[in-house]
Amino acid sequence: MYVQSFKETLVDTIILTKFQDVLRPDPNSNVTDSDPIGTGIMWHNKACYCLEISATDTHYRLVCKGCGTILIVPNEFNTYGKLRQWCAEQNAPRLPKQVDSWGEAAY
Ligand SMILES: [Zn+2]
Repeated sequence: MYVQSFKETLVDTIILTKFQDVLRPDPNSNVTDSDPIGTGIMWHNKACYCLEISATDTHYRLVCKGCGTILIVPNEFNTYGKLRQWCAEQNAPRLPKQVDSWGEAAY
């Protein structure tokens, strides 16, 4: 099967929180990872509302009117690609600092 590759990747589902809230691009929006936040229509979870975006000087909010979920993101993460990256960092499990095994320093 041959799939036409796009110039840029279209936005895939972005996992917003560790509670598995997801942002789903509307299939008709044709948004790419380099598009600024607010481009196109983004849905919250499977059958929720469109996410609304409101900006402050330093951050912007993704708000779902349906369930009240609010995500506050620093302004520098202003594209979908960067939002995906930011979310991944926020949601990564916080591992304790690695501790060297006792007396097993590698030479
Ligand atoms: Zn929602």
